[in-house]
Amino acid sequence: MSGLRFGTAITCIDGRVHRPVILWMRSRYGLDFVDVVSEMGPDKLLADGWPGEIAPVRTKVGFSVKVHASLLIAVSGHHDCAGNPATKEEHLAQIREGVRQARSWGFAADVIGLWVNDQWQIEVIEPPLHMQPAEPSLDGSRSS
Ligand SMILES: [Zn+2]
Repeated sequence: MSGLRFGTAITCIDGRVHRPVILWMRSRYGLDFVDVVSEMGPDKLLADGWPGEIAPVRTKVGFSVKVHASLLIAVSGHHDCAGNPATKEEHLAQIREGVRQARSWGFAADVIGLWVNDQWQIEVIEPPLHMQPAEPSLDGSRSS
């Protein structure tokens, strides 16, 4: 699509997380735009949700991949999530499981797992399989 590089962020509906996730994905992976699919507590939804709950998320992400040739799908969870009041350890496990879920969809896009911490900074919980950072040191975020 006119050479623009898109990503897709699966985020909470929480307004505090969209900007940091989008800006981080743009700078770290050289993306021009990031489509957003928002759900309440999406890490829990993807890790523990019923197939009927997960299917609409897959449909929206698939649309983003299809129409924008999205290169990178981010599964994210965040600190102080009202939709998923779990411990950080539970969130991180759900993010890893959510990444496995998103990879099982078989879309032609890489998948990354992100945690938005209590400073509203991005931590990489599950790195993408293939995609290399455009600016690895730009944001100073920690990778695991
Ligand atoms: Zn939330």
